[in-house]
Amino acid sequence: MRNPMTITLALLLCLLPSFISAQEKGPADDLWILYKQGQFEEVVAQGRVLLVTHTETAQVNLAVGRSLVHLEKFDDAFPYLTKSAQMDPQKTWVYAWAQVYLGLVNWKLGDDNRASQAFILARDCVATKNATRSAVTYMLRLGLSEFFADWVPLETEHFSFRISGRLKNFDRIAFVRRHEEAYAKITKWFGGQPEEKIRFLLWSSQEEADEGGIGTLGFSKPEMFLTHAVIGQTVGHEMTHIISYYALNPTVRNGLINEGIAVFMDQTNRDQMERARSLRDGGKSEEIRVSIPAMWEDWSLAPSEYSYPLAGAFVSMLIENGGKDKFFEFFLDQSYQHAQLVYGSDLSGWIENFEDKLYQ
Ligand SMILES: [Zn+2]
Repeated sequence: MRNPMTITLALLLCLLPSFISAQEKGPADDLWILYKQGQFEEVVAQGRVLLVTHTETAQVNLAVGRSLVHLEKFDDAFPYLTKSAQMDPQKTWVYAWAQVYLGLVNWKLGDDNRASQAFILARDCVATKNATRSAVTYMLRLGLSEFFADWVPLETEHFSFRISGRLKNFDRIAFVRRHEEAYAKITKWFGGQPEEKIRFLLWSSQEEADEGGIGTLGFSKPEMFLTHAVIGQTVGHEMTHIISYYALNPTVRNGLINEGIAVFMDQTNRDQMERARSLRDGGKSEEIRVSIPAMWEDWSLAPSEYSYPLAGAFVSMLIENGGKDKFFEFFLDQSYQHAQLVYGSDLSGWIENFEDKLYQ
């Protein structure tokens, strides 16, 4: 299981403030230096001393509250962030960031309404570009902005579904049941699972996603336990990204392997080698031919409708030839170099056979 602190850090470090030098001197200055260094325990300890020795400011509360969020102490962070927002009636950057973090805390504590309200307050005070952008991004990714007002929430044991209101005559119950069934199979295969529910947003079409501004579907953000999918995707692909991430904790991820395992586990039982072979020259004027090591280095070498089944077939071959234990060992670092290390001299022969089969 991945250290939960690392997850939140990965999620939030992009939000580090760059405002410190621009501000007037105050009791929080030293706290921000420690904060930037990632010394969150120290910020909390020193900040609490400041707060009880009558040097309470909005900034000190903010530094302590934000540090507690990074330490995954969401309940503890709550009063400091609330106080920070209250102590900044001018609604400056301090208020804006307090609301962004209140949004995060409420989301983590499972209160979507309050999370949404806080993100909206952060966005609408337009105090600083970064805070506004963070609030907008979180709301969009988590499905909390006004755009999602008519989406249907559905909670199951392992998913927190948000289903587009434009999907009429859609059997939601069958959809969520299929996902729970696939989740059970996939987590069993990997021998592990995420410690939080997967927030699963189901869009009616790519056009709707374009309108909402979310980008190309589907995709998953394992660090946020988050999937955005479109109707018609396979049941297993996206959840495999999240489950494999938490079951095996890969430190080096690679397109060929990471997409390959998701295709391999997509629960369609399609023959991916056959799919790749038929797509290779299926009506295209130019036959696609790429080497596996080249694709390992550069996942964008071939069009995705071809590279995905190819990757699925390749991962299937690795598991068949080397076994599941070896594959799990290799999966931690998905680079070609690590594959050579784990599979030794067998690998080049396997790749040669694979390419022969693919291009014969
Ligand atoms: Zn994928």
